[in-house]
Amino acid sequence: MSVNTFPSAMEVKAGGRTLKGGEEYLVKASSASLRGNFPLKHVLLKDLSSDSAFKLLSNGDWSEYLLVLDTMTYEEDRIDRRYKSILHNKLRAQGIVVKSKRRLIWTVARDQAAFFTLECLPEAVLITDTLMWVDIRAKFHKQFKAKNVWGQVRGTLYPDSFLVVSAHYDHLGKMGKSIMFPGANDNASGTVMMLELARYYARNPQPFTLVFLAFTAEEAGLVGSKYFTEHPPFPLQSIRFLMNLDLEGTGKDGITAVNATLFEKDFQTLQGVNDSGKYMVKIVPRGKAANSDHYWFSEAGVPCFFIYQMGEYGHYHDPGDQAEKLPLDAFIETQSLIRAFFNRLQSG
Ligand SMILES: [Zn+2]
Repeated sequence: MSVNTFPSAMEVKAGGRTLKGGEEYLVKASSASLRGNFPLKHVLLKDLSSDSAFKLLSNGDWSEYLLVLDTMTYEEDRIDRRYKSILHNKLRAQGIVVKSKRRLIWTVARDQAAFFTLECLPEAVLITDTLMWVDIRAKFHKQFKAKNVWGQVRGTLYPDSFLVVSAHYDHLGKMGKSIMFPGANDNASGTVMMLELARYYARNPQPFTLVFLAFTAEEAGLVGSKYFTEHPPFPLQSIRFLMNLDLEGTGKDGITAVNATLFEKDFQTLQGVNDSGKYMVKIVPRGKAANSDHYWFSEAGVPCFFIYQMGEYGHYHDPGDQAEKLPLDAFIETQSLIRAFFNRLQSG
């Protein structure tokens, strides 16, 4: 797979102040490299409001500049279009700095843009700042090798029928040399839960074969699971059910089951099992969604749910997603629910 990375130490200064990576700024996942001291041009709403003002801006020579944009939802379509053309660097600047009002959330990109983009908090770059120092090097890998890992506990009665537990074991890695995105909730939590279930089933073999699937490159766009469904080591039709685990570190408010409306009968079974065992406070049904690795399986007709836990937790795709912050309110109970559900599937 191709992937854009930032392995070298990075530095960003605005108006002489060093900005904190991961807290005050993120380099856009698809960004190109940039190094140097650049004058800032703050793009104001009035620059976007009229044809004449935007024309004036567009006619300027910004080739030495970083253009600073303040994100906002533009009601007016024409302003939005002008905003986006700057975002796509149609004004041919050195790069774009986007002041974001939302939380900073990092991702992984499988391509590298032709220009540099930085996202930062509004207070990190002031309207009075005229210069920005940037030292960010992007390294693009055309053919990065990543691996899915899987194992099985052979069934005692029906070894050709499979129950699968899956979880992606990748996260975002590092931004620069020192800014780590630990991914405790996303998805060490699901990976550990899968391993706990593997430990249990290794000691307690079942009538069906139990398969444990650790996917790579989910964050890069469900890459590992897509590959798996395109090159399955066993027939996908032999999977009676797949349970995908992602974001399993909270649970105080229950779980959501993606694909519940797609596999209604199996969802009734799951609800029934929970009603009698009282494992979770609630299970919220949700429709189909391409938001984790279960997606390619349901597209291929394999019955599956993606369950994620609900509860208070303020971290998502940021450096604060750390193990010690996870409440793990239903970590054991979710495993009990899955085991009870699998029992029911094997007996019916
Ligand atoms: Zn995830």
